[in-house]
Amino acid sequence: MRQRYTTDVLVIGTGGAGLRAAIELHDQGLKVLLVGKRPKADAHTVLAAGGINAALATVDVDDHWAIHAADTLQEGRMLGDPRMVELLCQQAPKAITELEAWGMPFARTSSGLIDQRYFGAHRYRRTCFVGDYTGLEIIKALIREVEYRQIPILERAYISDLLHTGNRVNGAYGFWLADQHEFAIESKAVILATGGHIHSYQRSSSRRRENTGDGMALGLQVGAYLADMELVQFHPSGMIFPHELAGTLVTEAVRGEGGRLYNRHGERFMQRYDAERMELSTRDRVALANYTEIIEGRGTEHGGVWLDISHMPASLIHERLPRMVEQFQAVGVDITREAMQIAPTAHYSMGGLQVEPFSHATNIAGLYAAGEVTAGVHGANRLGGNSLAEILVFGRIAGQHAAEYVRHHSKQSLHEAQMQAAAERLAWASQQSGAFQRSLIDQLQQVVWHGAGVVRNEQTLEASLDQLNTLRFQSQQRSVGAADIAATLDLQSMLLTAEATILAALMRPESRGAHQRSDYPATDPLWQRTIVVKPYRDEHDRLRLQLDTQLIPTASEQVQTAFNHQEYSVAGRLVE
Ligand code: FAD
Repeated sequence: MRQRYTTDVLVIGTGGAGLRAAIELHDQGLKVLLVGKRPKADAHTVLAAGGINAALATVDVDDHWAIHAADTLQEGRMLGDPRMVELLCQQAPKAITELEAWGMPFARTSSGLIDQRYFGAHRYRRTCFVGDYTGLEIIKALIREVEYRQIPILERAYISDLLHTGNRVNGAYGFWLADQHEFAIESKAVILATGGHIHSYQRSSSRRRENTGDGMALGLQVGAYLADMELVQFHPSGMIFPHELAGTLVTEAVRGEGGRLYNRHGERFMQRYDAERMELSTRDRVALANYTEIIEGRGTEHGGVWLDISHMPASLIHERLPRMVEQFQAVGVDITREAMQIAPTAHYSMGGLQVEPFSHATNIAGLYAAGEVTAGVHGANRLGGNSLAEILVFGRIAGQHAAEYVRHHSKQSLHEAQMQAAAERLAWASQQSGAFQRSLIDQLQQVVWHGAGVVRNEQTLEASLDQLNTLRFQSQQRSVGAADIAATLDLQSMLLTAEATILAALMRPESRGAHQRSDYPATDPLWQRTIVVKPYRDEHDRLRLQLDTQLIPTASEQVQTAFNHQEYSVAGRLVE
């Protein structure tokens, strides 16, 4: 017997984007239901450390939203959508004011203003923060507001399918992780706020079983388009040792607070890659620099480089980087006295569902998306701190427009046939061996890390596509053993989104930002285009992906005037 819920708008995801969208929907007078596969206050957003960007000019008085937008577009190597970027940067200060009103304990300057720190490649200090646990405090503030409004949350509830009639969504189907009981939710609109797909990489900064690309896969299943899937951000600094913790993020705030990078010879190597900005260069450049040092044999014994902040006063390190102090203390490293060993780690999905810039509507009626699950803001290189701004600004905007949609469309009831098809998929997943499906996830992560990692080329990408096809075939075979429905479905989402990433990476014959092709080392101005992934069904009703490209509009005059015309040296050499 399945449970049944009815609501005006279903929000899938209880990270920052989902919570903010739900608050907006409630305040617009709609009935809203939040669903998340993790405990309600433990979405991926809680991991966010270093801060959230807004051109408040509290510390650097010359800052302005247009300069923030110009930095974001230029450092995204001009693949971001200027309309979305401009909206983000204009609205980010309002998001900070709102958080402040909701009790966010931002760090303050001596004169009581919200303090702002440097993050890589920003011209001004514009990152607001709470120590190095900014994301956790954002979630606490949002959950307080959600609970105050008595918005219902289904926790540890996994959405396995979107339900739709024709080109319009009318609900979703899923199951409780605790007991596998199934439920159907009827809703007039759905907002996907399910985060990214970086768990497809062997080494990733989240290191929890989330970010499996569910929202992107749920969207593809009902015909939604993806964009920018080849653009995966590799963070320069993940832990490398001990082995079990490899990938765990070492926040950029360490470099923001003065951390320096050294290779095994004690050389401060950023001098050779970006002599002007050194460690405060962009993530793509620092990640490629670290990768190059390691691959060319100048790395540490565990295959990393050194990140050292021990020259700064211990009191400052304790005050500004408490989480890093703890994280390394747990493995016997005192960062106030010793250097950290780090290496690049997969960090952020810059691609995702393609949305209309001003409403965050997808190409499917009634389906909206916000946060890391979407594409459009970050281009080929996300600036640190922009994601937390994005989830708040576009969470609110997606909520506002979904509310508008609901006011103008009547309800479409769920039909038994729709729910039956979704139930059959779960019945299939409940007959698979969880251990076997998890072993395929491990293999997929290795394939994607090696094939579509920091540096890729046609050979590695083609090989990984072949290996994915083999894994897909194996995942469909009947395997005997205790079921793990979530792992079985996670794998299906990971296969689909990894395929989208590899196909798009094959299509882009150039190197730009985080997309580094050793067989096409130069940036090609003709490829200042967005790659769009469109799903279709073949004659066997199998979901297939085809690719298209779109031109990117130009930025407004105000933002073009703010472009930075300084040339930075880029000496990152590509290696196979
Ligand atoms: P998430 O927070 O990922 O939430 C996704 C939600 O969807 C979760 O509730 C999950 O349970 C739910 N979900 C997913 N699939 C399903 C399903 N099938 N059924 C039901 N529920 C589902 N950005 C910054 O701007 N500044 C920083 O300092 C910063 N630091 C970071 C540090 C780390 C270690 C990491 C990993 C990221 C960091 N980021 C930072 C990036 C930022 O945290 C994320 O991009 C952002 O929090 C994503 O928020 P979101 O709401 O889009 O998704």
